[in-house]
Amino acid sequence: MSKVNTVLGPVPAEELDIVAIHEHIGYGMPGSELDTQWWKTPEQAYEETVPKLRAFREYGGRTFVEATGICNGRDVDYYKSLSATTGVHIVACTGFVGGNTALPYFAEASVDYLTKLFIHEITVGIGNTGAKAGVIKVGVSRGGRMTELDKKIYRAAARAASQTGVAILTHLAIDPEPAIAIFNEEGMDLDRVLFGHADDGPNAPITPHQRILDAGGRLGFDTFGYETELPDPPFWARPRKERFDHFMSIVNDGHLDKLLASADANCSPLGWPGVKGHTVNYIFEQLIPDLREAGMPQSDIDRLFVHNPAQFLAIQN
Ligand SMILES: [Zn+2]
Repeated sequence: MSKVNTVLGPVPAEELDIVAIHEHIGYGMPGSELDTQWWKTPEQAYEETVPKLRAFREYGGRTFVEATGICNGRDVDYYKSLSATTGVHIVACTGFVGGNTALPYFAEASVDYLTKLFIHEITVGIGNTGAKAGVIKVGVSRGGRMTELDKKIYRAAARAASQTGVAILTHLAIDPEPAIAIFNEEGMDLDRVLFGHADDGPNAPITPHQRILDAGGRLGFDTFGYETELPDPPFWARPRKERFDHFMSIVNDGHLDKLLASADANCSPLGWPGVKGHTVNYIFEQLIPDLREAGMPQSDIDRLFVHNPAQFLAIQN
């Protein structure tokens, strides 16, 4: 199998072990770094983050895919330091959470410019950090429909993915027709695209899961743990049992190889308080025990958290 770019260098895909495929060290809306109300010292952020990554490692987690795009607080030197301190492989992304979080400088750039930017970050590095991006992030802006800017970013991502062999993960899987059309036009194998947030409260009911699977795409149940049972649930929460049963129905339909699961948690959120009581370790503390209780054999749990992510993240060339 081929390699995966982590912030500390390439790692053979078979060494990723248990992967959290869609997580955040720290995610914030563009501009939150200018709001003095939310400023944190580097020490504070470090203190909030390191214990969560250490616990992740102790539970057997090995690889953390940091899905924060350009403009949302991506900080690659910080990720390198966290990875060196905790022994967790961190995969950084290039791309954008969605058109609505791309600042005007990028929003006004051409497809060609964005394509070259993504390729540079994947093959040469992100600025002068020495770290290469391991995956491309794209997404659907708020409002339920892909905007023209979303489509421009998807097209640039498809071109960069085709040229470099890295995979694409999406924020939201609603309105997938324009995305599927762009990926097909650009000759991309949909198996290289993870259509994410297919499971959250407001979006699960309007996501055409079967259509995405029929087109060959992968489905991300990657907001596990944002549930209405939390003391102060966010608007995207969903009842635990409802999400879990939905997930198991897709497994039982024979689509386990197309599924990826994660918690989309923030170790140390930027410009917002975050969601109390929710961390990446939901995977180990709740989800894997729930899967076992539902009768999922260990070999299938390994497919979900080890083999599927390794196949998806491995650079194809
Ligand atoms: Zn996310």
